[in-house]
Amino acid sequence: MESSSKSRFLKVKCPRCANHQVIFGKSTTKVKCKKCNKLLVRSTGGKTKIKASVYEVF
Ligand SMILES: [Zn+2]
Repeated sequence: MESSSKSRFLKVKCPRCANHQVIFGKSTTKVKCKKCNKLLVRSTGGKTKIKASVYEVF
């Protein structure tokens, strides 16, 4: 298994519908909840803003 500190996956919980979703931590695109379509992650000026609650990093 390759190890890279740059590639992280985050497990987040949607604040609206409590759906659990795995997202890529360095994502530069918008990530929406698959269930309720709420915007969970957005990037502004190269910074990633996570609007959901992260409860696991792996
Ligand atoms: Zn949701």
